Amino acid sequence: MDVESRKAKRCLKALSQIDFELAYLAALTAQGLKPLSRWEKPLADHALRQLCGLGLLAEQVRRTVKTGKEVIETIFSLAPGHIDLYKQRFDNTPIDKSAATQRFEGFLFGYPPCCIEQYIRQAYAPNNLPEEDQKILFHWACKGCAVTPTFLPAYRAVHNCLRK
Ligand SMILES: [Zn+2]
Repeated sequence: MDVESRKAKRCLKALSQIDFELAYLAALTAQGLKPLSRWEKPLADHALRQLCGLGLLAEQVRRTVKTGKEVIETIFSLAPGHIDLYKQRFDNTPIDKSAATQRFEGFLFGYPPCCIEQYIRQAYAPNNLPEEDQKILFHWACKGCAVTPTFLPAYRAVHNCLRK
């Protein structure tokens, strides 16, 4: 969906009243710039309705942490296939940060494989991205990344449009 449309703007405004980051993730995903996004909290029906208003499919997924405590995540995507892949792999499973998980999440979240591999080797290794560019990304760019700069302008446009 075009995030500049009136309906989208209404939904995004409601989401940004909950959290700006949530609205930004929803806008990127609705625009097709991220295949799937994860909000690491449950969302109320009102918020889920705004995601649907953007044309997104949204589902809650149950996870556990080491202590056994339950965590509810909300995932959203334009693509039912991506929602299914996430649920098949992660529903009712413990949260883990293994390399295999990071690679699979990176695939679903739209992170460049070069950046994921670098992050697995060394998290937050210095890159040459301006801080204001790195800040609007959800992955840590690898040094000299050839992929990230190709979609940065689109991310920046969505970010700017939300701040208006
Ligand atoms: Zn990269």
